[in-house]
Amino acid sequence: MPTLPRYQLYIDGIWCDPADGRRFDSLNPATGVAWASMPEAGEADVERAVRAAHRALFSGPWPVMTPTQRGRLIYRLADLCAERADELARTETTDTGKLIRETRGQSRYVADYYRYFAGLADKIEGATLPVDKADMQAFTVREPIGVVAAIVPWNSQLFLLAVKLGPALAAGNTVVVKASEDGPAPTLDFARLVEAAGFPPGVVNVITGMGEPCGRALTSHPLVARIAFTGGPSTARHIVANSANNLAHVTLELGGKSPLLVFDDADVDSAANGIIAGNFGATGQSCVAGSRVLLQEKIYDRVLAKVIERARTIRIGDPLDEATEMGPLATKAQLDRIGPIIAKTVEAGGELLHGGRQPPQFKHGWFYEPTVIACPRQGVPSTDEELFGPVASVMRFRDEDEAVQLANDTRYGLAGGVFTRDVGRAMRLTRRLRAGILWVNTYRVASPIAPFGGFGQSGVGREGGVDSILDYTRTKTVWINTSTAPMGDPFVMR
Ligand code: NAD
Repeated sequence: MPTLPRYQLYIDGIWCDPADGRRFDSLNPATGVAWASMPEAGEADVERAVRAAHRALFSGPWPVMTPTQRGRLIYRLADLCAERADELARTETTDTGKLIRETRGQSRYVADYYRYFAGLADKIEGATLPVDKADMQAFTVREPIGVVAAIVPWNSQLFLLAVKLGPALAAGNTVVVKASEDGPAPTLDFARLVEAAGFPPGVVNVITGMGEPCGRALTSHPLVARIAFTGGPSTARHIVANSANNLAHVTLELGGKSPLLVFDDADVDSAANGIIAGNFGATGQSCVAGSRVLLQEKIYDRVLAKVIERARTIRIGDPLDEATEMGPLATKAQLDRIGPIIAKTVEAGGELLHGGRQPPQFKHGWFYEPTVIACPRQGVPSTDEELFGPVASVMRFRDEDEAVQLANDTRYGLAGGVFTRDVGRAMRLTRRLRAGILWVNTYRVASPIAPFGGFGQSGVGREGGVDSILDYTRTKTVWINTSTAPMGDPFVMR
């Protein structure tokens, strides 16, 4: 049997194996076969990584670099990302099953994310305060918060890392990145670019390991001052509990069950494409999936017919093949989870209109058919649970009020889509829908310039956009006595 490529941890500028030598195999989702051997970081490795990041924060070249110099390093990283995008994409497709077309596009765009944050490095400003005290000059400065723990899931990991690492470095912090235990190879490969860009040792450390103990040790470490997490809501609860130990500033980008509303006056083709993109793009493994599809009565049949017609012709297959339109799910656990939720939805009155099974032509790998299920009401399993798979749960509505009521009837609030040609309605709905990101007559568009994040149980904080960098700073207020007279006796009242 050929030996698998052996990945290592990147700690304090050195490639190393875990202290206890533990490893696990990463499986290719298209075949179910192990393709690489991954290091499994334990508590001792977390300790080394956090200590290295803490040292780099206060000693060596990093703390004395000007913001412009930090920006230049991040620009260099961006250029390397652009140069090596195809390689990163291939690794990501092999490790996570995401289509090569998607990973290549995303990897190239990741460079623009780093450029955006590189440009912000020397635009972080404090303020001069018009304080109500004579003889006092007061001002604020924005300093790095400290050691940042950046925790990413397997899906769109280079993107989700860029919106954490970019602002964290631009603001002068040091970082310990924890890649997911599922598909960690792209993030570990990315660490090679960090090394090549010339960041001082310890400024960026990249590890991978299990939630327990690696994630727990990292998020509860007393020297971690900031936690930036993307993942599922149940993990988020652990992280918030862990942060009771270090009282770190925490931001959370979590899951969703986003509504996608189509009104009678919508363009049918456009709406159908929005539904396909929102549910079957990335095999439905997208936090912003528009997985609750709400169709107004008159357009219901026409839109559904289009969606099903396209779902029938979606080419499922090897994600490395340029012609493939839908690849496998990233993990077997996800595949095993979806089937029972669909079955329970059918028991509750749901009608399976297309898909709902593993395609029989695939004997290996974790493939699932694009699935459309008509749901009798809100509150059945497939309208409530984030499936993270290619499943569109469809419901009908009569009018705008009912659409808004159904759309907002969720504990989540990450995204939402509205298809209508009525500008007034589009404006009304952007006010009435409760979600962090709304798309009108489009779906799944993102940019480094636009804030991203959710309401409710979809998260806390925003990533991307100018303000996000402030979340990686802390404010220091400085008071200066400008009087020529010495400071008076504090017990003598004047
Ligand atoms: P997950 O929560 O299982 O894992 C995410 C990360 O958390 C992994 O690195 C994991 O090892 C780590 N982790 C697990 N337990 C931990 C613990 N106790 N302490 C610290 N870290 C721990 O998520 P997943 O299944 O890999 O990803 C899918 C989820 O991510 C979905 O819910 C999806 O919606 C969400 N997501 C959200 C966004 C967003 O921006 N809102 C983007 C992508 C994915």
